[in-house]
Amino acid sequence: MKIYFKSATLKSMIFFALITLIGCDLNKEKAVTMNEQENTNVLLEEWTGPYGGVPAFDKMSISDIKPAMEIGMELNLKEIDAITANPDAPTFENTIVDLEKAGNELDRVNIYYRIWSNNVSSPEYRKIQGEMAPKLSEFNSKISQNKELFDRIKVVYDNSLIDPLEDDQQRVIQLIYERFAMNGAELDDDKKARYAAINKELSTLYTNFANNVLADEENYVVYLNEDQLSGLSESMTKSTAKIALDKGQEGKYAIPNTRSYMSPFLTYSTERTLRKKVWNNYYSRGDNGDEFDNNENITKILKLRRERVELLGYDNYGDWRLQNRMAKTPENVMQLMNAVWPAAIARVKEEVADMQAIANSTGDKNVIAPWDYRYYAEKVRKQKYNLDSDEVKQYLQLDKLTLALFFVAGELFNYNFDPVPEGSVPVFHEDVKVWEVTDKTSGDHIGLWYLDPFARPGKRSGAWATTYRSHTTFDGKKTVLGSNNSNFVKPAPGEPVLVSWDDASTFFHEFGHALHFFSSEVRYPTLNGGVRDYTEFQSQVLERWLSTDKVINQFLVHHKTNKVIPKELVAKIKKSSTFNQGFVTTEYLASAIMDMKLHMADPENIDIDAFEKETLAELNMPKELVMRHRTPQFGHVFSGEGYATAYYGYMWADVLTADAAEAFAEAPGGFYDKELSSKMVKYLFAPRNSIDPAEAYRKFRGRDAKIDALMRDSGFPVK
Ligand SMILES: [Zn+2]
Repeated sequence: MKIYFKSATLKSMIFFALITLIGCDLNKEKAVTMNEQENTNVLLEEWTGPYGGVPAFDKMSISDIKPAMEIGMELNLKEIDAITANPDAPTFENTIVDLEKAGNELDRVNIYYRIWSNNVSSPEYRKIQGEMAPKLSEFNSKISQNKELFDRIKVVYDNSLIDPLEDDQQRVIQLIYERFAMNGAELDDDKKARYAAINKELSTLYTNFANNVLADEENYVVYLNEDQLSGLSESMTKSTAKIALDKGQEGKYAIPNTRSYMSPFLTYSTERTLRKKVWNNYYSRGDNGDEFDNNENITKILKLRRERVELLGYDNYGDWRLQNRMAKTPENVMQLMNAVWPAAIARVKEEVADMQAIANSTGDKNVIAPWDYRYYAEKVRKQKYNLDSDEVKQYLQLDKLTLALFFVAGELFNYNFDPVPEGSVPVFHEDVKVWEVTDKTSGDHIGLWYLDPFARPGKRSGAWATTYRSHTTFDGKKTVLGSNNSNFVKPAPGEPVLVSWDDASTFFHEFGHALHFFSSEVRYPTLNGGVRDYTEFQSQVLERWLSTDKVINQFLVHHKTNKVIPKELVAKIKKSSTFNQGFVTTEYLASAIMDMKLHMADPENIDIDAFEKETLAELNMPKELVMRHRTPQFGHVFSGEGYATAYYGYMWADVLTADAAEAFAEAPGGFYDKELSSKMVKYLFAPRNSIDPAEAYRKFRGRDAKIDALMRDSGFPVK
């Protein structure tokens, strides 16, 4: 299985969701007053220009952000007041539609805010972000705890149960009602006050948790001498020399205590004692028994979360959190994980045996320890699959891959991509390119696709997809502004950008998110919202088209000779896809299971270290590896709530992905089967969250997803 860790994307998505779910309608009089102030602030202004208006990325000024945010929030609150002050009985139109319409100014400011946060950050911006975060949190509470507003929503909801609305409206009111109810809108005043106090306390604990992990990442740097570099690549040597120099240790080599350095160091360094040290530092983050120890924070967080869901009448956090996820209950999640776990740890045994054989044959008497796994796995990979990743790269050019994306979108979605005339659409950096997306048959305008491909200072790492505007029709048709962002290394002018197979997969992955944005056919904004354990499906499934023959034969060509990638090399890539799945699945699942078990356990007298040890012992966790994120450093779950009892979501979406991919593999037209691909677009992409994801999947597949395909993909036995 493939796992994508993009917490920062999700963080901004949560923020975005918070902003968009709160809206309301501006009355004319107020609009006039505010327009006078807006005139001076470009971030609040309505988007003008071609394609239904586009963000004024060329006019962004950081001095505008704070006042724009403040005015945006104020306007939004006034809009809420206008809804609640309406003397007429609450209806879908005068309450829900107005709520869906509201917050436009703040939405626009938020687009710029996220560009600063993700694409062009600076110390100046981060200072503003630090100031704005608590203000935004306060603003969100004002709306989620607004009793008059919730009373109106509840009337509309209750009425809809007796006298149902149109299907999509029914879904909107249900989602909005649940969102408010799940967040304490129904509580009495005392409980509401306690609820808000808990949230405030939690937000501080989340910050402390994250800062402690960060402190341990900064405080435990391993410095190497020249004679300790054996096995490391030239680029790693260079970059670690630079880091040491920046830290005032000229002539040394610094291994920072982060995943991006730990992982290659453990894979390539021949120095076993140093591997152990680097491993120890990394997996002890937040667990060193000092001022940065997170164990007490975790206990407090678990207790507060339990207390908060008990206020709402739930037994545990998982029951509360999962009710509107695709999985629905913790039991369903545990059932999936328990089904995969035995195969994963059995595979670890085989992998360790392969590694031990290599260690023994080289005269190395070491018994494989956790700090040896990556090192010997790499040796097994070379021996068993003989795959040279550098050779593969020669056939993966960014330009050609971009054309491959367009080809796939044309085949599956009937889309056409054309570059917009130079300078016609403002961008926030000269590297960003923009294409117009149209329907191949009708020529209808669908939206714009922005691509920001290259790494640069101030841009966050990783790859992500986002929207500047989503498709809706309830208030006049809005077309989509979607964007993909990567961190490829910018080449010298005229040189091709060559990428790894994994990076090419990620490029397809993010484009899958973009296609999910473009294909939306929903009427209301709320229906564009994501479901945490479903939202990675559309992106993961698109990755599968990278290795289809049509893409390989047209676009995977050598950058110098233009020759198509050799069949033997493709065969090697495919054969190696199940390599190391024992390690990958086990380290992931151990964390996902721990996440669920921690939130279902009684938090009263919990000892986190002991709980982790006992749980892993019960699971028969192989001693040769550890959880991908040990509890005291599990930021997904304890630096916020985005992934709390949700880390399983990657595998949940993976089950759907593997099952859907098998449907294509078996279809008469394979991955380009017209009937099946139009079904996929119709049921799994276009509806977004306007129908229940499980129901949508059944419409596509004729049955629920089975885990067998995922097991086969991972090379695990199917029962
Ligand atoms: Zn994704």
